Amino acid sequence: MDCIFCKIVSGDIPASKVYEDKDLIAFLDIAPASKGHVLVIPKKHSESIADTSERVLSSLSIAVRKVSKALLKDNEGVNVLQNNGKAAGQLVNHLHFHVIPRNSGDGLEIAHWHAKKYADGEIIQFQDRIKKHLKETR
Ligand code: AMP
Ligand code: ZN
Repeated sequence: MDCIFCKIVSGDIPASKVYEDKDLIAFLDIAPASKGHVLVIPKKHSESIADTSERVLSSLSIAVRKVSKALLKDNEGVNVLQNNGKAAGQLVNHLHFHVIPRNSGDGLEIAHWHAKKYADGEIIQFQDRIKKHLKETR
């Protein structure tokens, strides 16, 4: 498979690794949103949050917490981002969590969106539909 992150896992292409365990690696993003931007990825290829096992996702979230705590020693805040699908801005189709250092006045436009409004009675339709899907989802 032609996956750039699988190649980083196998060591075929280099990366600035900061952390590793049996399930995952964490390394610096080569084109960072801010300096120190880390990616946390599973060693086993999966495309999105939906096709990754609960066990591996648990390991990833524990590592994301660890990396966040490390970055918070040098920075005021962090954003944790995770894109699934082209429409959501996913460019590399190997699951990854972004942990992005944030500081006041850094000018980054992350996690700021123009809020939409529900029409009267519309929010309950979304509530019902999502609850129905959740009942059918394992
Ligand atoms: P996304 O848009 O969520 O798929 O983000 C993919 C991220 O992977 C981007 O922030 C890229 O800068 C980063 N990236 C792509 N190739 C490499 C690489 N070889 N080493 C480190 N980061 C990479
Ligand atoms: Zn991969």
